[in-house]
Amino acid sequence: MNPPSLEVEGLAFAYPDGHQALFGVDLRIERGERVALLGPNGAGKTTLVLHLNGVHRAGAGTVRVGGLEVAKPYLQEIRRRVGVVFQDPDDQLFMPTVADDVAFGPANFGVVEPELSLRVKTALDAVGVPDLADRSPMHLSGGQRRRVALATVLACDPEILVLDEPSSNLDPVARRELAEVLLGLGRTMLMVTHDLPYALQLCPRSVVIDEGVVVADGPTRELLADPDLLARHRLEL
Ligand code: ATP
Repeated sequence: MNPPSLEVEGLAFAYPDGHQALFGVDLRIERGERVALLGPNGAGKTTLVLHLNGVHRAGAGTVRVGGLEVAKPYLQEIRRRVGVVFQDPDDQLFMPTVADDVAFGPANFGVVEPELSLRVKTALDAVGVPDLADRSPMHLSGGQRRRVALATVLACDPEILVLDEPSSNLDPVARRELAEVLLGLGRTMLMVTHDLPYALQLCPRSVVIDEGVVVADGPTRELLADPDLLARHRLEL
Protein backbone atom coordinates (compact mmCIF):
# COMPACT_ATOMS: atom_id res chain seq x y z
CA MET A 1 0.00 0.00 0.00
CA ASN A 2 1.17 3.56 -0.72
CA PRO A 3 2.16 5.63 2.31
CA PRO A 4 0.02 8.75 2.89
CA SER A 5 1.14 11.87 1.03
CA LEU A 6 1.59 13.67 4.34
CA GLU A 7 1.94 12.50 7.92
CA VAL A 8 2.55 15.05 10.64
CA GLU A 9 2.83 13.57 14.12
CA GLY A 10 3.18 15.49 17.37
CA LEU A 11 4.76 18.49 15.69
CA ALA A 12 5.83 21.19 18.13
CA PHE A 13 7.88 24.27 17.37
CA ALA A 14 9.03 27.44 19.11
CA TYR A 15 10.64 30.41 17.34
CA PRO A 16 14.08 31.49 18.57
CA ASP A 17 12.47 34.29 20.62
CA GLY A 18 10.71 31.55 22.60
CA HIS A 19 7.28 32.04 21.05
CA GLN A 20 5.66 28.59 20.87
CA ALA A 21 3.82 28.48 17.51
CA LEU A 22 2.85 24.78 17.28
CA PHE A 23 1.82 22.41 20.07
CA GLY A 24 1.73 18.75 19.04
CA VAL A 25 0.05 19.01 15.63
CA ASP A 26 -1.15 15.78 13.97
CA LEU A 27 -2.25 15.79 10.34
CA ARG A 28 -2.54 12.92 7.88
CA ILE A 29 -3.40 13.45 4.23
CA GLU A 30 -3.98 10.44 1.99
CA ARG A 31 -2.90 10.40 -1.62
CA GLY A 32 -5.43 12.24 -3.81
CA GLU A 33 -7.09 14.15 -0.95
CA ARG A 34 -7.68 17.90 -1.14
CA VAL A 35 -7.56 19.49 2.30
CA ALA A 36 -8.00 23.14 3.32
CA LEU A 37 -5.92 24.46 6.22
CA LEU A 38 -7.98 27.15 7.92
CA GLY A 39 -7.38 29.36 10.90
CA PRO A 40 -7.23 33.00 12.00
CA ASN A 41 -4.19 35.25 11.58
CA GLY A 42 -1.29 34.01 13.66
CA ALA A 43 -2.79 30.51 14.09
CA GLY A 44 0.37 28.74 12.92
CA LYS A 45 -0.54 27.84 9.32
CA THR A 46 2.59 29.26 7.74
CA THR A 47 4.75 27.82 10.49
CA LEU A 48 3.28 24.38 9.77
CA VAL A 49 3.81 24.72 6.01
CA LEU A 50 7.43 25.72 6.54
CA HIS A 51 7.95 22.40 8.32
CA LEU A 52 6.65 20.42 5.36
CA ASN A 53 9.48 21.51 3.06
CA GLY A 54 12.10 21.56 5.79
CA VAL A 55 12.56 25.33 6.15
CA HIS A 56 11.85 24.98 9.87
CA ARG A 57 13.27 22.11 11.88
CA ALA A 58 10.72 20.51 14.21
CA GLY A 59 11.29 21.04 17.93
CA ALA A 60 9.48 17.75 18.53
CA GLY A 61 7.54 15.31 16.37
CA THR A 62 7.95 14.11 12.80
CA VAL A 63 6.82 15.01 9.30
CA ARG A 64 6.83 12.46 6.48
CA VAL A 65 6.04 13.13 2.84
CA GLY A 66 5.15 10.03 0.85
CA GLY A 67 6.77 8.02 3.65
CA LEU A 68 10.05 9.98 3.58
CA GLU A 69 10.96 11.87 6.73
CA VAL A 70 11.62 15.59 6.48
CA ALA A 71 15.18 15.47 7.72
CA LYS A 72 18.52 16.85 6.59
CA PRO A 73 19.75 13.95 4.45
CA TYR A 74 16.55 13.96 2.37
CA LEU A 75 15.88 17.68 2.00
CA GLN A 76 16.55 17.84 -1.76
CA GLU A 77 14.00 15.09 -2.44
CA ILE A 78 11.58 16.57 0.13
CA ARG A 79 11.65 19.92 -1.69
CA ARG A 80 10.74 18.14 -4.92
CA ARG A 81 7.94 16.24 -3.20
CA VAL A 82 6.43 19.30 -1.52
CA GLY A 83 5.34 21.71 -4.24
CA VAL A 84 4.65 25.03 -2.54
CA VAL A 85 2.85 27.60 -4.66
CA PHE A 86 3.45 30.90 -2.91
CA GLN A 87 0.84 33.61 -2.56
CA ASP A 88 2.93 36.01 -4.62
CA PRO A 89 3.85 34.61 -8.06
CA ASP A 90 6.84 36.99 -8.07
CA ASP A 91 8.50 34.52 -5.69
CA GLN A 92 8.40 31.86 -8.42
CA LEU A 93 8.72 33.74 -11.72
CA PHE A 94 12.07 35.32 -12.45
CA MET A 95 13.33 33.95 -15.80
CA PRO A 96 13.03 35.64 -19.24
CA THR A 97 10.29 33.30 -20.49
CA VAL A 98 7.50 31.19 -19.03
CA ALA A 99 9.12 28.01 -20.42
CA ASP A 100 12.41 28.89 -18.69
CA ASP A 101 10.61 29.37 -15.39
CA VAL A 102 8.75 26.06 -15.67
CA ALA A 103 11.93 24.21 -16.66
CA PHE A 104 13.94 25.70 -13.79
CA GLY A 105 12.66 23.39 -11.02
CA PRO A 106 12.89 20.02 -12.80
CA ALA A 107 16.29 20.96 -14.29
CA ASN A 108 17.50 21.63 -10.75
CA PHE A 109 16.29 18.20 -9.73
CA GLY A 110 18.29 16.60 -12.56
CA VAL A 111 15.69 16.21 -15.30
CA VAL A 112 17.35 16.51 -18.74
CA GLU A 113 16.17 16.74 -22.35
CA PRO A 114 14.02 15.43 -23.96
CA GLU A 115 12.12 14.76 -20.71
CA LEU A 116 12.58 18.38 -19.60
CA SER A 117 10.70 19.88 -22.57
CA LEU A 118 7.97 17.29 -22.15
CA ARG A 119 7.58 18.28 -18.48
CA VAL A 120 7.26 21.95 -19.46
CA LYS A 121 4.66 21.23 -22.10
CA THR A 122 2.65 18.89 -19.86
CA ALA A 123 2.66 21.37 -16.97
CA LEU A 124 1.57 24.33 -19.13
CA ASP A 125 -1.16 22.17 -20.70
CA ALA A 126 -2.34 21.11 -17.23
CA VAL A 127 -2.82 24.73 -16.12
CA GLY A 128 -4.46 25.68 -19.43
CA VAL A 129 -1.86 28.07 -20.84
CA PRO A 130 0.02 26.06 -23.52
CA ASP A 131 0.35 29.17 -25.68
CA LEU A 132 2.29 31.23 -23.13
CA ALA A 133 5.56 29.27 -23.23
CA ASP A 134 7.57 31.95 -25.05
CA ARG A 135 6.06 34.96 -23.29
CA SER A 136 7.74 36.99 -20.59
CA PRO A 137 6.14 36.22 -17.19
CA MET A 138 6.36 39.94 -16.42
CA HIS A 139 3.74 40.78 -19.02
CA LEU A 140 1.00 38.35 -17.99
CA SER A 141 -2.22 38.97 -16.08
CA GLY A 142 -2.48 38.10 -12.39
CA GLY A 143 -4.47 34.95 -13.14
CA GLN A 144 -2.00 33.83 -15.82
CA ARG A 145 0.94 34.44 -13.50
CA ARG A 146 -0.64 32.36 -10.77
CA ARG A 147 -1.24 29.50 -13.22
CA VAL A 148 2.34 29.65 -14.48
CA ALA A 149 3.59 29.63 -10.87
CA LEU A 150 1.50 26.48 -10.39
CA ALA A 151 3.05 24.98 -13.53
CA THR A 152 6.57 25.58 -12.18
CA VAL A 153 5.68 23.33 -9.26
CA LEU A 154 3.74 20.71 -11.27
CA ALA A 155 6.74 20.25 -13.55
CA CYS A 156 8.61 18.79 -10.56
CA ASP A 157 5.89 16.12 -10.16
CA PRO A 158 5.31 16.77 -6.43
CA GLU A 159 3.78 14.29 -4.02
CA ILE A 160 1.68 17.10 -2.53
CA LEU A 161 0.78 20.58 -3.73
CA VAL A 162 0.73 23.22 -1.02
CA LEU A 163 -1.20 26.29 -2.12
CA ASP A 164 -0.83 29.48 -0.12
CA GLU A 165 -3.93 31.66 -0.52
CA PRO A 166 -4.41 30.68 -4.19
CA SER A 167 -7.48 32.89 -4.72
CA SER A 168 -6.05 36.13 -3.30
CA ASN A 169 -6.06 39.16 -5.61
CA LEU A 170 -7.83 37.34 -8.45
CA ASP A 171 -10.85 38.72 -10.27
CA PRO A 172 -13.94 36.47 -10.31
CA VAL A 173 -13.18 35.00 -13.75
CA ALA A 174 -9.54 34.17 -12.94
CA ARG A 175 -10.65 32.77 -9.60
CA ARG A 176 -13.16 30.43 -11.26
CA GLU A 177 -10.70 29.39 -13.96
CA LEU A 178 -8.05 28.57 -11.35
CA ALA A 179 -10.57 26.49 -9.39
CA GLU A 180 -11.35 24.48 -12.53
CA VAL A 181 -7.65 23.93 -13.18
CA LEU A 182 -7.00 22.82 -9.58
CA LEU A 183 -9.95 20.42 -9.57
CA GLY A 184 -8.81 18.94 -12.87
CA LEU A 185 -5.30 18.12 -11.69
CA GLY A 186 -6.33 15.12 -9.58
CA ARG A 187 -3.45 15.79 -7.18
CA THR A 188 -3.05 15.73 -3.43
CA MET A 189 -3.42 19.26 -2.12
CA LEU A 190 -3.14 21.23 1.06
CA MET A 191 -4.64 24.66 0.54
CA VAL A 192 -3.94 27.37 3.10
CA THR A 193 -6.66 29.98 2.91
CA HIS A 194 -8.86 32.57 4.58
CA ASP A 195 -11.27 32.26 1.61
CA LEU A 196 -13.85 29.87 3.04
CA PRO A 197 -16.07 29.69 -0.07
CA TYR A 198 -12.99 28.65 -2.07
CA ALA A 199 -12.15 26.01 0.53
CA LEU A 200 -15.72 24.71 0.26
CA GLN A 201 -15.55 24.59 -3.51
CA LEU A 202 -12.18 22.85 -3.73
CA CYS A 203 -11.57 20.84 -0.60
CA PRO A 204 -13.91 18.13 0.69
CA ARG A 205 -11.99 18.14 4.00
CA SER A 206 -10.73 20.98 6.18
CA VAL A 207 -8.45 21.23 9.16
CA VAL A 208 -8.78 24.22 11.47
CA ILE A 209 -5.76 25.31 13.45
CA ASP A 210 -5.74 27.97 16.16
CA GLU A 211 -3.00 29.00 18.56
CA GLY A 212 -0.84 26.17 17.26
CA VAL A 213 -3.38 23.41 17.92
CA VAL A 214 -5.64 21.48 15.52
CA VAL A 215 -9.13 22.35 16.78
CA ALA A 216 -11.25 20.72 14.05
CA ASP A 217 -10.76 18.22 11.24
CA GLY A 218 -13.64 17.02 9.09
CA PRO A 219 -15.83 17.59 6.05
CA THR A 220 -15.57 21.25 4.97
CA ARG A 221 -19.33 21.41 4.45
CA GLU A 222 -19.98 20.41 8.06
CA LEU A 223 -17.30 22.61 9.62
CA LEU A 224 -18.42 25.71 7.76
CA ALA A 225 -22.04 25.06 8.77
CA ASP A 226 -21.08 25.33 12.46
CA PRO A 227 -21.51 28.98 13.48
CA ASP A 228 -19.96 28.40 16.93
CA LEU A 229 -16.80 26.94 15.40
CA LEU A 230 -16.54 29.86 12.96
CA ALA A 231 -17.02 32.45 15.70
CA ARG A 232 -14.66 30.75 18.17
CA HIS A 233 -11.81 30.69 15.65
CA ARG A 234 -12.53 34.00 13.91
CA LEU A 235 -13.34 32.39 10.56
CA GLU A 236 -15.45 34.61 8.30
CA LEU A 237 -17.60 33.16 5.55
P1 ATP B 1 -1.59 34.36 8.79
O1 ATP B 1 -2.95 33.82 8.46
O2 ATP B 1 -1.68 35.77 9.32
O3 ATP B 1 -0.57 34.20 7.71
P2 ATP B 1 -0.52 32.05 10.22
O4 ATP B 1 -1.63 31.16 10.67
O5 ATP B 1 0.21 31.68 8.99
O6 ATP B 1 -1.08 33.54 10.10
P3 ATP B 1 2.07 32.02 11.49
O7 ATP B 1 2.69 33.03 10.58
O8 ATP B 1 2.46 30.60 11.36
O9 ATP B 1 0.48 32.16 11.47
O10 ATP B 1 2.39 32.50 12.99
C1 ATP B 1 2.11 31.69 14.14
C2 ATP B 1 2.59 32.43 15.38
O11 ATP B 1 4.01 32.51 15.36
C3 ATP B 1 2.06 33.87 15.49
O12 ATP B 1 1.81 34.15 16.84
C4 ATP B 1 3.22 34.69 14.97
O13 ATP B 1 3.22 35.98 15.56
C5 ATP B 1 4.43 33.88 15.43
N1 ATP B 1 5.58 34.03 14.54
C6 ATP B 1 5.62 33.93 13.19
N2 ATP B 1 6.85 34.12 12.72
C7 ATP B 1 7.65 34.37 13.82
C8 ATP B 1 9.03 34.65 14.01
N3 ATP B 1 9.86 34.71 12.98
N4 ATP B 1 9.47 34.86 15.28
C9 ATP B 1 8.63 34.79 16.32
N5 ATP B 1 7.31 34.52 16.23
C10 ATP B 1 6.82 34.31 14.98
